[in-house]
Amino acid sequence: MTNDVLPNSPTPRQKMRVAYIDHVAQSSGAEIALARLIDALHDVDPLVILAEDGPLVASLMASGVSVEVLPMRERTRDLRKDRVGSRGLPIAALVDTTAYAFRLARRLRALRPDLVHTNSLKAGVYGSLAARLAGVPVVWHLRDRLAADYLRRPAVLVVRALIAILPNSVVVNSEATRATLWLRKTNAVVVYSPVSAPDDTQRARRQRTRHDPFVIGMVGRITRWKGQHVLLEAFARAFPGGSEVVVVVGAPMFGAAEAGYAEELREMSRTWGIADRVDFRGFRDDIWAELSRMDIFVHASMTPEPFGQVIVEAMLAGVPVIASAGGGPSEIVTDAVDGLLYPAGDIDALAELLQRLRGDSRLRSQLRNNARIRAERFSPEAAASSVMSLYGLLLASSWPARRM
Ligand code: UDP
Repeated sequence: MTNDVLPNSPTPRQKMRVAYIDHVAQSSGAEIALARLIDALHDVDPLVILAEDGPLVASLMASGVSVEVLPMRERTRDLRKDRVGSRGLPIAALVDTTAYAFRLARRLRALRPDLVHTNSLKAGVYGSLAARLAGVPVVWHLRDRLAADYLRRPAVLVVRALIAILPNSVVVNSEATRATLWLRKTNAVVVYSPVSAPDDTQRARRQRTRHDPFVIGMVGRITRWKGQHVLLEAFARAFPGGSEVVVVVGAPMFGAAEAGYAEELREMSRTWGIADRVDFRGFRDDIWAELSRMDIFVHASMTPEPFGQVIVEAMLAGVPVIASAGGGPSEIVTDAVDGLLYPAGDIDALAELLQRLRGDSRLRSQLRNNARIRAERFSPEAAASSVMSLYGLLLASSWPARRM
């Protein structure tokens, strides 16, 4: 069987056409991870189909990626995961999602991509359904742990069932995410989200003088489960009345609860008397500039993080990492070798590690050096190679069926 006689099949000169489906158009973690993956896939001609307009559209287009917006009704697109399953599955959302899947299937039939690759949880559901309706092989890229500490139990069960039957293949962003599936191990491929630092990252690293404050930093969406409050309280305990400062990079992104939590954090800083040593930076595009100011990086998620790109970013930027154990961080960091781990939510343990690392420059430099080597494991090349192998297998197994 030769490639060139098959309709829609990539020839050596023709790139594979892949439609990437996501419902979010903000620069949040999963979407940043998608942009990085697409950037690494040199043999793919990508088209991203989003369910809303937003900053991601412009940033993808600026990197030469084709983007289409196929709008979804706001009530369904913005339905928060914590509301799904609180009183059964919302009927309106089911109707909207099914109707959207049919619209997307029509669009896919017109576009005739070789493959569909879904990127968000919602897109996994409607994108996989649409791809099936359009007769296009589909990869469901799961970036969330399907567990009751993250989603409500009924939603966990429904999504686990759908991911077991809808897509042709599943990609997960960590072993921790894979462990939440019903699938046999071999059915889901772990592809760690790729991170690479700009070439001048090490050069840009600020050389701290005696007069500069010691900076403890955190990067991430402002939302309770990310544990910004854990860092602030641990900081207040570790350095009462000290000269150290804490920099919190990130903003609330989804819904009123996150905005309320951001306000709570400011209130807490005042209560603990550290308000003048806490710098809330808001959302920053240039994460590498932010990391270059930090002396210690803290990751404080309360529930196991599915992966945690920010940890790899800090490691590549040469900032010693303290992370909460469990989930992706335990796969990225080897405790006491290239970072330090503490039990999630344990404020005393975090405060103790902060003091220890603050006082031990040799340990900081050991962790920094080992972390740079470790972080290479999460390279764009590694992710691209795994994904291209999967695409190849999927196309090889689906071409005969698609000719009929
Ligand atoms: N990020 C950013 N600016 C900010 C806060 C976060 O660019 O102000 C980026 C961060 O650098 C990382 C991503 O958002 O690349 C967050 O991804 P991660 O996997 O750590 O967490 P998620 O948001 O997916 O849970």
